[in-house]
Amino acid sequence: MKKKQINIIGAGCAGLSLARFSNKLKEYQFNVFSEKKIEKTKDHFWGFWKNSFTEDAYSNANCTWSKWSIITNEAHEVLTAKKHPYCVIKRNKWLSYCKKKAIKGKVNFFDENISEVNNRLLTSNKIYITGHQIFDSRPPSIPSNTLLQHFEGCVITSKKNIFNPEIVRLMDFRCDQSKGIHFIYLLPLSAKSALVESTLFSKNIESSDFYFNSIKIYLKKYYHLTKFSMKDFEKGIIPMNDLSMKSIGRYNIGMRGGAIRPSSGYAFIYIQKQINKIIKNLIFKENINTKVHKNFDLFMDRIFLMVLDLYPEKAPKIFLKLAQAVNGDEMAMFMSGEFKASIWFKIIISMPKICFIKAFYKVIIR
Ligand SMILES: Cc1cc2nc3c(=O)[nH]c(=O)nc-3n(C[C@H](O)[C@H](O)[C@H](O)COP(=O)(O)OP(=O)(O)OC[C@H]3O[C@@H](n4cnc5c(N)ncnc54)[C@H](O)[C@@H]3O)c2cc1C
Repeated sequence: MKKKQINIIGAGCAGLSLARFSNKLKEYQFNVFSEKKIEKTKDHFWGFWKNSFTEDAYSNANCTWSKWSIITNEAHEVLTAKKHPYCVIKRNKWLSYCKKKAIKGKVNFFDENISEVNNRLLTSNKIYITGHQIFDSRPPSIPSNTLLQHFEGCVITSKKNIFNPEIVRLMDFRCDQSKGIHFIYLLPLSAKSALVESTLFSKNIESSDFYFNSIKIYLKKYYHLTKFSMKDFEKGIIPMNDLSMKSIGRYNIGMRGGAIRPSSGYAFIYIQKQINKIIKNLIFKENINTKVHKNFDLFMDRIFLMVLDLYPEKAPKIFLKLAQAVNGDEMAMFMSGEFKASIWFKIIISMPKICFIKAFYKVIIR
């Protein structure tokens, strides 16, 4: 019997995460079309929390932690998770794991730079991509004036044991706040080495000097560290916006399928959730639904982002209050979009009321 075709555009996080499930759908032939990269995309870490749809990423994770902290000039809040640790996996490690599974599942791979003409997808030989299902993960363009999460950093190695390998510093706001909401993200990979990133939520990208000077000042001030080696440089720009695109005759997945959570910029976990949903839809012959965030969550994110826009100086206090309102597992579920109304309730009542009420009105009259 001739197999039905599933065509996937892009072999990044979403494309390969989907292709890894080809062995679950034997009636389909999976094909992946992705541009031939002259220069291999730089490797970097993806951070996520363990839950039911990140089980295999968790088993392949480079590091996991049960504790993480949110730090401001006023307080230092450490959260502990029993069921949902924070994990990181290297991009190339995850992509090769998915690709290996896809190859075992007899997925075809094509080096193709796909173009779009009159809403249809074309290969470089001018052949239209058809098939029973098309999933498109080409990165979307970012609208101007979008709030961005932008960061640069690297793995720092010291000769002495200086990092506490037990606790991730998820957000440490004790750094220069003059360019926007700014925090240091520090992942202790061992007592001697850590991935350290200077991250901003703002509309303007800074020069590399800004991020690296912030890291140097931070390490000197809080770790008395001035001599260290630097490797595995990372940088990224993630739009803090709902970028979901609508297309006729195909499904958008990954960033272009709205997988970024606007309020946090986390996408890996939501991509896994989206792909798990799609696979379930295909297995049970249901209509495919790529929607990954609830409307209520997106509405609350718009209010939250409005607060950050109107009152950026309050950001450290707001993130600290969030961390004080919930326990580690609740925060992990909240950050993964998997939470009960009671968690929302705890968070809402902990927030500064006046700025949220003002932001709420601004969002609804827009
Ligand atoms: C440095 C960095 C760090 C990040 N860290 C985190 C993190 O810690 N946690 C988190 O949740 N998120 C993180 N993100 C955000 C998000 O998880 C990633 O951006 C993720 O890669 C998005 O997956 P995607 O499949 O949508 O896009 P991509 O992974 O970028 O995949 C897109 C694919 O499409 C291909 N393609 C593009 N154009 C064409 C074309 N015309 N024809 C054919 N193929 C094409 C590309 O080659 C690529 O293979 C990070 C992003 C960056 C850049």
